[in-house]
Amino acid sequence: MGPTIVDIPVTVRRITCLLLLCLAPVLAFASTQVHGVRVWPAAEKTRLVFDLSAPAQHRVFTLTNPHRIVIDLANTRLAHSLPKRSFGGDLLRGLRSADKSTGILRVVLDLAHAAHPKSFLLKPYKNYGHRLVIDLTRTEIKKPQPKSVKPVKLVKKVTPVTTEKLRDIVIAIDAGHGGEDPGAIGPQGTQEKDVVLAIARELARLVEREPGMRPVMIRNGDYYVGLRERINEARQHKADLFISIHADAFTHPKARGASVYVLSGKGASSEAARYLAKKENESDLIGGVSLNDKGDLLAQVLLDLSQTSSREASLETAEAILAGLGKVGQVHNRNVQHAGFAVLKSPDVPSVLVETAFISNPQEERKLRSRHHQRRLAKAMMDGIRRYFYRNPLPGTLLAQRRHIISRGDTLSEVAQHYDVNLNQLRLVNGLEGDRIKVGDILLIP
Ligand SMILES: [Zn+2]
Repeated sequence: MGPTIVDIPVTVRRITCLLLLCLAPVLAFASTQVHGVRVWPAAEKTRLVFDLSAPAQHRVFTLTNPHRIVIDLANTRLAHSLPKRSFGGDLLRGLRSADKSTGILRVVLDLAHAAHPKSFLLKPYKNYGHRLVIDLTRTEIKKPQPKSVKPVKLVKKVTPVTTEKLRDIVIAIDAGHGGEDPGAIGPQGTQEKDVVLAIARELARLVEREPGMRPVMIRNGDYYVGLRERINEARQHKADLFISIHADAFTHPKARGASVYVLSGKGASSEAARYLAKKENESDLIGGVSLNDKGDLLAQVLLDLSQTSSREASLETAEAILAGLGKVGQVHNRNVQHAGFAVLKSPDVPSVLVETAFISNPQEERKLRSRHHQRRLAKAMMDGIRRYFYRNPLPGTLLAQRRHIISRGDTLSEVAQHYDVNLNQLRLVNGLEGDRIKVGDILLIP
């Protein structure tokens, strides 16, 4: 079933209420039960998940003054009273309910500010049964526009500035899973969603420090973000790279090492990759919305030739990241893997997915939990990202600005000194093993 957006205008609302009233006596004997409610607060979106014994017909509408959201569930009752504890976040103030004689369960959400509700039902999946999901998105408060603006006097023409304004390279960092969807779980109970968020935050910190680059966190807390939403978020921020961070799991506890994936054109490159892609794509069935009923427009876009450049960029970045990861630990596959991950289906943003290690391997699980190792993994990814963008400097960014052409008598350490950069970094971004350079070589200056 597809997500339904229920936002009922007043007139329709009255009719619907009447309709529910008429239906109620008929259904009074087959009552659906609400077993529990979970709340996942996030900065801009708060999610409520109602665990149901069966799918329930429902209506959602908003009331103002004070701000409230009302959820009416036909032919439903509470199995336990609603939680009264603090819900975290600054949106949800309280939860109230009223069992109506008509069989309609009314749940009222008291809000701190206006929010737009979106609701959908999820079918049973794995440990979860039927669920009703309510996503509350903060409504922007519109500032009143001044009615008329006095024409501004023309200012004396400014002499054009010679240095063009440089833009930052935007790295979208996507911590996999979250909220309802824990991802893979290690033998000690470590949840993938937690360790990948920690690694993502470390990476964001490193990107932040990098001259000419800026991180965007796709998920920055314990809540679920749909796979398509992750793509859209990256595109909205005009990301130059999308990097999705995960931790692998396999039935065999000895499986170990990191893998880096890009989207496959046709079919996955191996059976294991196909299996993994299936598993990661199931995320939306656990934590979000079903992918099946969405028109696969993006899949069509993928076939477009214009995609080629972004796929090449994905592959080259993936190779650079894999090389970086190889330096801090074992790699599971020596080559970049291809698989049909939904989250990599951006038509225009180069996208890679990193399985940092096997959480199912007891040793690697321990490592994944350690702050030290999380930093090493983040640093390895940063090295790969840096290497890719220094080799392929995007026009209009800082990295496109600084190059040095070697002339007779130049030495690497002199060049480093001249530009005030670290000698090791200079070697790294230029892929130099030693200090040998020759006249005419173009060095990228970090
Ligand atoms: Zn995962």
